[in-house]
This record gives sequence, C-alpha cells and structure tokens, in this order.
Amino acid sequence: MKCKICKGKAVIKLKRHNIKLCKEHFNEFFIRQVEKAIKEFRMFSRKDKILVCVSGGKDSLVLWLVLSKLGYNVTGMYINLGIDEYSEKSKTKVINFAEKNNLKYTIVDLNELGYPIPELSKKSRRPECSVCGTVKRYYFNKIAYDYNFDVVATGHNLDDEASRLLGNILHWNDEYLEKQLPVLPAEGKMLKKKVKPLIRLTEQEIASFAFLNKVDYILDECPLSVGATSLVYKDALNLIEEKIVGTKQFFYLQYVKKLMKRLKNKNNEKGDIELKNCKICGMESFHEVCSFCRLVRDEK
Ligand code: SF4
Ligand code: ZN
Ligand code: ZN
Repeated sequence: MKCKICKGKAVIKLKRHNIKLCKEHFNEFFIRQVEKAIKEFRMFSRKDKILVCVSGGKDSLVLWLVLSKLGYNVTGMYINLGIDEYSEKSKTKVINFAEKNNLKYTIVDLNELGYPIPELSKKSRRPECSVCGTVKRYYFNKIAYDYNFDVVATGHNLDDEASRLLGNILHWNDEYLEKQLPVLPAEGKMLKKKVKPLIRLTEQEIASFAFLNKVDYILDECPLSVGATSLVYKDALNLIEEKIVGTKQFFYLQYVKKLMKRLKNKNNEKGDIELKNCKICGMESFHEVCSFCRLVRDEK
C-alpha cells in the first residue's frame, strides 16, 4: 500500500476520499480538515481566547493538541463528573497529557461542588446523560464567561453529529434540529460562542491520528453510556457507510448547508429573543431560572 502523494509506505486508507496516505501526509490531511472547518464556519481567529472542553477521550485531546500546534490560544477545561473510577482515570489522562505537551488547563470538580452526576440524577429523577449535559454546558459557559474566553470548543466529530442528526430526525425534535450547527453564536453578554472544529473528521480518522501521534487517551467508555441510543444510530450509519461510502459526510454537511441558508433568511425576518438573568445564579438564560439552577434545586 503506497501513499498517494509521496509513494512512501501508506499507513491508512481513507475510503470516503479514496486515498491511501503515509503518516506525514495523513497528519497534513487531518490538520487541513480542522483548518477548513474553522475557516468555513468562521469559528475563531488567532486573537481569540479558546476554552477547549476536555474529557480525557481521544476527540477532545486530539482537538486540544491540534489547535495548540496550529498556534491558537487554547486552555483545556476538565470537569470531574464524580463517576467513580472512570472520572479519576480520565482526570489523570488529562493532567498527564497537559504536562507532556505543555498545555494550560483548569479543572472543575463536581464532587467538591456537591453535584456528582449519579447523585444529581437520582435526586432530580432525570437520566444521567441529560443531567450531565446540562451541568457540563453550564460550567463550560460559566468558566468561559468568568475568565473572559471568547469561544468554547468541543471535540464532537462527524459520527457524533451525523448520529445525533439521525436521532433528531427519527424523533422529529424540531427544536434540536435547528441547533445542530458546527457553530452556535454567542447570545447576550454571558452565553459564549460554541464551536466544533472536528466535524469534518470521523471517529476512526481521529482514533488513527491519536494512535499515530501517541496521544494517550482513556480507552474506557463512561460506564453510564451503556445502552445509549446514540450508539445504535452510530452503528446504523456505519452500516450504510460500508455500502454507500460518503453517506455520513453528505448527510450531515449538506444538512448544515441547507440549515444555514434557511436560518439566514429567517434571521432577517425575526427580532432578537430577549435574555433574562437567572434569578438564582445571575447567568443569562431564556427563562427566569436557568436550566442548571432548576436542576440542582430540583425545580422542574
Ligand atoms: Fe456524561 Fe452520559 Fe457522556 Fe457519561 S455517557 S460522560 S454521563 S453524557
Ligand atoms: Zn506520503
Ligand atoms: Zn442559574
């Protein structure tokens, strides 16, 4: 197997692009895809302060590394979710990775704050992943606001977004469908811009990049992810991709293109939605009490 560019030994075959590449040219391809997403969706510039959400998994660590190598001003933020051994292991991965690569980071510990996810889920009688999503969104945004970051970046990849899109379509979740973009703009003064620079890359491509570049990430899945429906949608899309190469990319990126066009027209017609300050924590919200404060105070 030979690299299409230099004819050296290829280490990977990219079916959806119909090319084989050596390590050096795969790395170039990979970084080009990240840069392309940043530019195409106007995610951020080298002047911006970027907060990268890191979990210890391959996607977020790879994103953190690539953005730092590209010269962006990045700081990692890890949230200890209080999920026993899994949280301890992932925290160690993040700290070791930051030290090895000389990266800045900050940690929020939900055990210390009294909000470990399993406990919060029991108290509020809401599924763990839904509670986890609310808490993570809240703290990433709060830290970004408190420390003057311009943008929050997450490691969501093409598989994550395509499977979420499939799930949202299967259930006709109109409200979520409207928000499935690689960039969500800032709202008011406190709700920061959110971006997903890895959306042009698949899970497998990211795993290959991590392996070839010796990124030491946590291999265990979160124990609370067992039975998650998103995994079923991912499997279904992989099955289709096997037979019809390029479906995943076409499905998600074409949707984004159409949605952006539609929202542009819609935004020209509608006025701004008014934000309020949460009565409890003061952060901006679309409701009197923000979803995080409703969750921890068990108000629904
Ligand atoms: Fe949180 Fe669920 Fe992901 Fe575990 S699987 S980290 S609980 S969202
Ligand atoms: Zn090559
Ligand atoms: Zn609040």
